[in-house]
Amino acid sequence: MKFWAEEWEKAKKSLSNARLRKLFFTGKKDIIMTRRRSILPIFLPHLGCPNNCVFCNQKTIQSKPLAPTELINLIKNMHYKKNNATIQEVAFYGGTFSNIPDDITLPLLDVIHKNFGRDIPIRISTRPDAIDDRILAKFLDMGVKVVELGVQSFNDDVLKLSNRGHDSSCIELSLNLLRKANLSVGFQIMLGLPGDTVERFIATIEKTIELKPDFVRLSPTLVLKGTPLEKMFNDKKYKPISIKESVQLCAKAKIMLFNACIPIYRMGLLLANETGCGQENIVAGPFHPAFAELVDSYISFQSILQTIKNDKKVNMVSISHNSRDTSIFLGQNRSNIARFLEMGINIQFEKNDQLQRGWFQINNKRYCIFH
Ligand code: SF4
Repeated sequence: MKFWAEEWEKAKKSLSNARLRKLFFTGKKDIIMTRRRSILPIFLPHLGCPNNCVFCNQKTIQSKPLAPTELINLIKNMHYKKNNATIQEVAFYGGTFSNIPDDITLPLLDVIHKNFGRDIPIRISTRPDAIDDRILAKFLDMGVKVVELGVQSFNDDVLKLSNRGHDSSCIELSLNLLRKANLSVGFQIMLGLPGDTVERFIATIEKTIELKPDFVRLSPTLVLKGTPLEKMFNDKKYKPISIKESVQLCAKAKIMLFNACIPIYRMGLLLANETGCGQENIVAGPFHPAFAELVDSYISFQSILQTIKNDKKVNMVSISHNSRDTSIFLGQNRSNIARFLEMGINIQFEKNDQLQRGWFQINNKRYCIFH
């Protein structure tokens, strides 16, 4: 509870920043954009990867990489044409983009530029040890605007046990290089990797806050079919964290990042249409289709609890909230109500659309979820 009290105090200082509040409390969407963008995702499984990270199933998703001509045809025939959608960004997911040979990336970029114009922003994901001056020059030439770095953890033991093939020293170096080139940088961070602990994960978030990337993705580690982690799991050498623990840790991380004004782009597994990884590939681990909502629900529970405990005058009877936040305030399957009941607190939730999203009202007094 001490953690929450401290974090709510810090959060109050940021309340004037309405935009960030929106970014933080995004409910089901969990997106960072203040306006919706149409992103064309192109998945390049394991392409350019120098090794096989224990948790990653990209090598098994596709036994051989697509030939450049196949990828080009794929882009040409994508459904956006039928829907007449305006694509505002092209995002390459999967693999290690900066290690992919030019004879694959250049024809791909060529067809993208022909279809969407030379100014279309490109987003790529890559490893922190795959950035240097030559690669940066190539990125700028290609129109790359956003680079997502697969940081995963700042703990060297965790990186080693996950077979990342590099230690944490390259993360800051590559971030500085990308910053110098004026690129937006996101960190992809995982929790529950082999060797990870609560302290190590929180230390990773603290280091992230120190480095201030433009955004973060948070992913609880799942055991996926065909990965070395599946073998470790079957051999009882790896135990995934529970859904409860991963929700609590992500809630902590979300509050910490909010206080540091670092938005979270997404929590949980990437969508199947971005990665080719569907639910049928999950062997074990803290998977939930609405993981981000579970986290927001837990935050709202802690916020209400803190408010009740802090304000002795509050005669807790009913709590009003915006109807669009109902699933978050009540929790999935009314889990927040059950949590309060377990503590002997009987709370009734009422809808009031006069309230802003992320706010609740007790006895005519309004509170933001960040109080
Ligand atoms: S996690 Fe990233 S770097 Fe590791 S094998 Fe998968 S795609 Fe490659």
